This record gives sequence, structure tokens and C-alpha cells, in this order.
Amino acid sequence: MSARRLFNRRRLILLLGLLLSAGFMATSLLSYMASRDAIRASIIDQELPLTADNIYTEIQKDLVRPIFISSMMASDTFVRDWVLHGEKDVGQMTRYLKEVQERYGAFTSFFVSDRTSTYYQTQGVLKQVKPEEPRDAWYYRVRNLESPYEINVDPDLANGDKLTIFINYRVLDYQQRFIGATGIGLTVDAVRLLINEYQQRYRRIVYFVDANGRIVLFGNQSGHLESDIREVEGLKQIADKVLREKAGSYQYHNKGSEHLLKVRFIPELNWYLCVEKIEDEALSSIRKALYLNLAICVLLTAVVMTLARLVLNRYQGRLEEMATIDKLTGLLNRQAFDILLQQALAEFQRVPQPLALLLFDVDHFKRINDSFGHLKGDNVLKDVALLLRNNLRQSDLAFRWGGEEFLVVLKGSGVADAVAVAEKIRTAIANHRFGTPETPMQISISAGVTEYLPGDDADRLVGRADAGLYLAKRNGRNRVECGTTDASSTHPAAPA
Ligand code: GH3
Ligand code: MG
Ligand code: MG
Repeated sequence: MSARRLFNRRRLILLLGLLLSAGFMATSLLSYMASRDAIRASIIDQELPLTADNIYTEIQKDLVRPIFISSMMASDTFVRDWVLHGEKDVGQMTRYLKEVQERYGAFTSFFVSDRTSTYYQTQGVLKQVKPEEPRDAWYYRVRNLESPYEINVDPDLANGDKLTIFINYRVLDYQQRFIGATGIGLTVDAVRLLINEYQQRYRRIVYFVDANGRIVLFGNQSGHLESDIREVEGLKQIADKVLREKAGSYQYHNKGSEHLLKVRFIPELNWYLCVEKIEDEALSSIRKALYLNLAICVLLTAVVMTLARLVLNRYQGRLEEMATIDKLTGLLNRQAFDILLQQALAEFQRVPQPLALLLFDVDHFKRINDSFGHLKGDNVLKDVALLLRNNLRQSDLAFRWGGEEFLVVLKGSGVADAVAVAEKIRTAIANHRFGTPETPMQISISAGVTEYLPGDDADRLVGRADAGLYLAKRNGRNRVECGTTDASSTHPAAPA
């Protein structure tokens, strides 16, 4: 097999492997990208808005109702009349506050009178509010408020400083003058619980941001650690845009993963509800599928390449065999002789050793064909080849030289050995029963023998063997003769 052919075959297999893996990889990547886009679209268009809607509904239940209750308290004639009549019976006010708190399941309820600066709650008078007290700043803020109420998240002094959402409503008298602030407070625990549930069940990050970008309310875990969206990596770049647009879908990069963000403004709270999903988590399953695909692609490519190599090797081998093997007898053919004799002669140059040639022809073979048909003749030739092989050594080379002519190269044999081998073959064939028991045939061969002489080329060597064969035919067939140079000059066709 030539190096060039080997190189071409390698290149072919490599090309096949490249084509296969490129094809596999392209389809795997394309399907991965298509799935990723579909997942991203479904997160942005469906999952996040749905979560935002659900949370908004819950928030309305949890926060909007308290606003409504606070508003009722602010416009309650009892509260106004009680203040206008001089806040005489503290018990009346505390009973009222207690009733509101219990009826609506609030965490706390309060009233602060502007005239006396007294802070009333369900247990009675809590304290006096003072402008210089930082904890009372909310009251003086509400006092000057344009809108009827505000929502404020503060620790509740009346309840062991538990973080509480206060709805602070302005109370006006019948002439629309400010006479105090009332409302209820609720712990953020309920809202937090909801946020936590969403975060855990749907692997989302939920938090609320006020108008200034401060993160005011968030779950217990897996949210942002920063207290302002202007400090969150990746989000700070789009924070102004988010606050300005009030609602929309955004995408940003944080700590090595892609965040998909849905923002919804809640006017009642003046807060932004933010729902996020980390895309990588959603993509992990299809990413696994991609890796699996790629692994299968590598495996398949390797298998196909191996198979292709095997098939090509076999095919090549067959081609080479076909070029040097005679189809009918399985012996080497005349083309192979040229190559193998050159090899044998090259070996002779290195390590001189005798080399003999034996050429034989089946006697009167035409008659066999004529009497029994061409197919039977073919079978005889096959049997001759078999007998020939059985009477040779492993190192000997047997060729089908032509129609019913055979040639043998005997390495390491001189002419005397060659004559002995030829006699052995001749006897074996003469004694063999060819054909079938019904149509037995007997044949004989004539053989010419010669040995390699220094200065010989293939033509001279074969010519001498041919001369021996011619002699054997002339001397009566079924015999072996040694060829000489004189006899090889020219010879007419062997007489029939
Ligand atoms: P001799 O060699 O003894 O002089 O007589 P012969 O009858 O063998 O004469 P010759 O060598 O001239 O003829 C050979 C015949 O062998 C002619 C041809 O029809 C036949 N032959 C050649 N090749 C094949 C073959 O492959 N199959 C068969 N069945 N016959 C073949
Ligand atoms: Mg012949
Ligand atoms: Mg013949």
C-alpha cells in the first residue's frame, strides 16, 4: 500500500469525522439556542408577569385593605367628635382602637392627636410625640403631607420594635383642618412569608423598591444583599431607567449569571414590585441536554470514524488482493509475479542463495474442455492448483501463469531440488483422480525447470523454464526437463 494512498485514506476519514462532528455540533447548538430563547421568552412573557400579578393581588389584599381601614378610621365621626370634644375619655379611644385592631386582624392601631401630641393605642396612652424625637419624625411628616396618607415601614415601639408597615392617615375635622393621624400597622411577616414562598417554590427573587430605589421589603433568603438597587451589581446601570419607566422587563448580569427582571409599579404603595429569575437555573436542564448531545456526538463520530477505517481497510485489502490473486485458483497471478520476482532477486543480491523456477502446462487440456465442457475444465484447474499448493513449501510462490500454465518460484532451491519438486508434482497430478466418480478424468503435466544464474533478468529466467517445458512436450509430455539458454531462443507452439 503506497504512502500516498494511506495519506488519502487518513484524510478522508478525518474529513468524515470533521463533517460529522461539525454537523452534530451545529444541530446541538442550534437546538440549544432555540430552547434557550423559548425558555427566556416564556420567563419574560409569562412566568414573571404571572408572579408579579399574583403578588400584586396578595399585596392588595394585605396592604390595600389596611389602607382602606385606615381611611375609614380617619373619616370616622367618633374619632373626630371625640377629639373635638376634648379627648376626655381615654378609655373610649382605646376601646375603639382595640375593636378596629381585632376586627380587621391588624397588628397595631393608633391615633395621634395634634392638639395634645398624645399617642393613643390599644393599651392606652403610649407617649407624647415630640418634634425633636427622631422616632416621631413620621408624625410631623404626615402633618405636612399633601396626600391623605403615607405608608411607612418602621419598627413599632408599642410592639417590641417589630418591623411594621404603618398606614398613616391624616384626620381632618369638619372644616378640613388637620387634627391628628390615625391608622393601623401590620407586620411585614405576612408579606415576607408570601415572598419567601414565591422565592422557594418558583425559584424567583421578589422584593419591593420605593420611589428612591431603596429596597424596602424582601424575603428572608436568596434576595439581594444590598439595600438599594443602585448598589446591586449590573442593576445599578439600569436603576434610573427602571424607576423612570415604572413597568417593564429587563435583563442584567450579576455575579456571573443572567437575571431576568420584571418590574411593576404599585401606585397604592408608591413602591415597585420586582420579580427576578436567574436564567442559568432555568437553563440548567437544557444545558445538561446539550452536554449529553455533544458527548453522544463525540462518541458517534468516533464510532463512525472507526467503522469507516475498518471498511476502507478491508476494501483496500480486497482491491489489492484482486489485483494480485487469480480468481479461479486463488494462486498469485502474473502481475504479482513481476513484483515478487523483483523482491526475490533483491533478496538474492543481499544474501545470495539458490533460486529455481518451475513452469508447467497441462497436457492436452483442450481435450478435457472438448470432452467435458469448460466448467469441468475449470474445476480441473482448481484441483491442479490445490495439488500444487499441497506439494510446495510455505516459502515457495505459486502463480497461475496463463490458461492451464502454472509457474513456481522455489526460494533456496537449486535446479536439482527443483527437478525433484517438479517430479513430485507431476507424479501427484498423474496419480490423481480428477472429476467425479461418475466422470473420472486423468491428466498429466509437462514441466520445465531452471535456476537463477547471475546476470539473469525475469525474461531470461522464464525463457529458460519455457524452453524446458517445450522440451518436455517434445519429448513425449508427462515429464520434466531442464531448460537451457540455447533452447529458449525461439520455439514454435508445442505440438498437440
Ligand atoms: P498441450 O499443452 O499438451 O500441447 O495441449 P493443450 O490442449 O493443453 O494445448 P494448449 O496449451 O494450446 O491449449 C490450452 C487450452 O486450455 C486452450 C483453452 O481452451 C484452454 N484453457 C485456457 N484457459 C482456460 C481456462 O481458464 N479454463 C478452461 N476450462 N480452459 C482453459
Ligand atoms: Mg498451454
Ligand atoms: Mg496444455
